[in-house]
Amino acid sequence: MLTIAVSKGRIYEDALPLLAEAGIVPTDDPKTCRKLILSTTRDDVQLVIIRATDVPTFVEYGAADLGIAGKDVLLEHGADSLYEPLDLKIACCRLMTATRVDAPEHKGRIRVATKYVNTARKYFAEKGIQAEIIKLYGSMELAPLVGLADCIVDLVDTGSTLKANGLVPRELIMNISSRLVVNKAAMKMKNQAIALLLEQLEKTLSQR
Ligand code: AMP
Repeated sequence: MLTIAVSKGRIYEDALPLLAEAGIVPTDDPKTCRKLILSTTRDDVQLVIIRATDVPTFVEYGAADLGIAGKDVLLEHGADSLYEPLDLKIACCRLMTATRVDAPEHKGRIRVATKYVNTARKYFAEKGIQAEIIKLYGSMELAPLVGLADCIVDLVDTGSTLKANGLVPRELIMNISSRLVVNKAAMKMKNQAIALLLEQLEKTLSQR
């Protein structure tokens, strides 16, 4: 049995057609069904539906053999403990800094609100900017509006969420897409099944 960890929402929706090409079609829809383990049209493959930030953890500990996770989540988790053999080129967006439209040029120490604490700390340290990082779990856009932070680090796709809140994207930290990750032990123990799946996904991606 191969267990694949996926998060609900955009990554799941974008991953479905790719998995279908490998003959993997879930027999339930996580939008309407509360099951956390979904069987698929392949007897040897099941999906576990978890929070995006938990995907690397499930795969690292071997609770799932494979996972699909955004590069943002992998960077933040520290992905040395996982193999990352494939860029699935889905759920693409950008990890960016953003400030209020009228934000003054900041000279000294800045306050940054984000859920990407490790990534943000590393980014500002590499730029030689002193930054106090404030961990938030959501609604980052609010932080500069209420004086909690000068700047946020968040995912940007169309930019409409920032715009609706009077913020502008400033610096690109990294282009983001979802990656296939694999548990290191599973890569050895279940090599044949995983290698075949990788081959099928690679073929589908090359035809896109
Ligand atoms: P947008 O308004 O299109 O720029 O989308 C920005 C909002 O969607 C932010 O709240 C992001 O956290 C979220 N978002 C955008 N792209 C992704 C993605 N690929 N994965 C997860 N969240 C995303």
